[in-house]
Amino acid sequence: MNMTEKDIEKIVQSVLHNVESALGKSASASPSVSAVSVASGEGIKPVQFKQVPVFQQETVKSPNRNRNLGGAEEKWGVFNHMEDAIEASYRAQMEFVKHFQLKDREKIITAIREAVLREKEVLARKVYEETKIGRYEDKVAKHELAALKTPGTEDLKTEAFSGDNGLTIVERAPYGLIGAVTPVTNPTETIINNAIGMLAAGNAVVFNVHPSSKRSCAYAVQLINKAITEAGGPHHLVTMVKEPTLDTLQTLIDSPKVKLLVGTGGPGLVQTLLKSGKKAIGAGAGNPPVIVDDTADLEHAARSIIEGAAFDNNLLCIAEKEVFVLESVADDLIFHMLNHGAYMLGQHEVEQVMAFALEEQGNEQNRGCGFNPQRHYQVSKDWIGQDARLFLEHIGVQPPTEVKLLICDVEFDHPFVQLEQMMPVLPIVRVKTLDEAIEKAVMAEHGNRHTAIMHSKNVDHLTKFARAIQTTLFVKNASSLAGVGYGGEGHTTMTIAGPTGEGVTSAKTFTRERRCVLAEGGFRIIG
Ligand code: NAD
Repeated sequence: MNMTEKDIEKIVQSVLHNVESALGKSASASPSVSAVSVASGEGIKPVQFKQVPVFQQETVKSPNRNRNLGGAEEKWGVFNHMEDAIEASYRAQMEFVKHFQLKDREKIITAIREAVLREKEVLARKVYEETKIGRYEDKVAKHELAALKTPGTEDLKTEAFSGDNGLTIVERAPYGLIGAVTPVTNPTETIINNAIGMLAAGNAVVFNVHPSSKRSCAYAVQLINKAITEAGGPHHLVTMVKEPTLDTLQTLIDSPKVKLLVGTGGPGLVQTLLKSGKKAIGAGAGNPPVIVDDTADLEHAARSIIEGAAFDNNLLCIAEKEVFVLESVADDLIFHMLNHGAYMLGQHEVEQVMAFALEEQGNEQNRGCGFNPQRHYQVSKDWIGQDARLFLEHIGVQPPTEVKLLICDVEFDHPFVQLEQMMPVLPIVRVKTLDEAIEKAVMAEHGNRHTAIMHSKNVDHLTKFARAIQTTLFVKNASSLAGVGYGGEGHTTMTIAGPTGEGVTSAKTFTRERRCVLAEGGFRIIG
């Protein structure tokens, strides 16, 4: 009789089932469990499963395929097939809501926080080595921030109404399974931040990560799953596909098991999710302007702007990306910036940097290294998130030690102002009046409604700019980092949902509102 691999696998499953029944399903308690596996064409060979101390070795069966998910990576949440990641997390979430209380969720979240804090240097190094963008020490700080300042279950508040007609409570219920997409600029930090918030709300999550960060993200997902299972939580609450592509994203979007989509990235991603026909939370691009007026503490403004703009080489969506300063105080602001370690690019040096850090789109005839407003530019991927000193070395300037930020004096229509560069090159535009500053800042923000910063001691000026720009984050007299709780009050997020309006996301963002009513009848004394 000819047996196919499928037939053999069926027999294996049935033998395993019998063995498990005989052992009273005590696989996790036994020192090791003998099992069998199929080696193609060689019949059945005995293999040893390693002892797994916390959870039971289990087989997750997707309705579409009959595949054993026993591999080490899949065991800890990194799946070869998106369908399997979805199925595993779907089942995990059902178990999570059925058998785990709020206090259990909190225990699981504490375990995730501890694991991330323990491994923050490892995570930062892995991200830095894989993506080759940003600054290692700032990535350590971002992991710490995500672990410590992402809200847990305390974020979920129940509302109650009581009166003659009874009691009504409005609870925060989970969506179920969430599909989430992460950027290359904060890859593992977003996974940690999203996972804490989404799990606190009772969900499970499947990630489709940026392909350039897939290895470090796989490490983070495995770390999180180990922490969850060690804390007694269900297996596979957080999963990802090992080789993320636009096709795997489409599978995630199309799956009826996925009830909410959350995307952190550029405009293309947000548009894709919003077209899905599902509830989607979109955290999109920014190009945050800074205004400095003539009442500002200029030294403090200079230090704050450098802190925010140089952090992780300007990769953050909230980072200061262009400055509008009243011309009466512009020289003083620049003086203080130079005193605090910024390097001023001369006109010729600006053109040299443009020639390699930006790429031209379109008209070949207009080529040349000088700025021409008729030409269209895009940022060169090779230079995103690189060190300021590398830019200087590339144009033949011996970089001063410790230089973290390059500044340049440019006109409003310069591409360094208009593009979301994510490079440590900060353009400064001189303006005559506050109204001109506000008008230009609003235009440079391009309606993203993301982040804006202002340095001023005049409350009317601050209010005027805040009302005009209508951004999700508006930071006054501090670095942009304060807007996400780094040196400022309030919780942190790595997913600032401007386009869809949820704002600074947290656990409650990932919940549905559920009303539970005990009306008159519930109180009526019968008889
Ligand atoms: P990106 O848009 O290139 O990629 C983000 C994610 O979306 C990746 O996983 C990528 O694979 C996927 N993606 C990209 N284009 C897509 C498309 N057309 N359809 C479907 N999926 C797509 O962004 P990035 O370079 O990884 O990150 C930087 C961008 O993200 C910046 O624009 C930054 O402002 C933004 N960002 C926003 C926030 C926020 O909270 N609002 C946070 C971090 C980053």
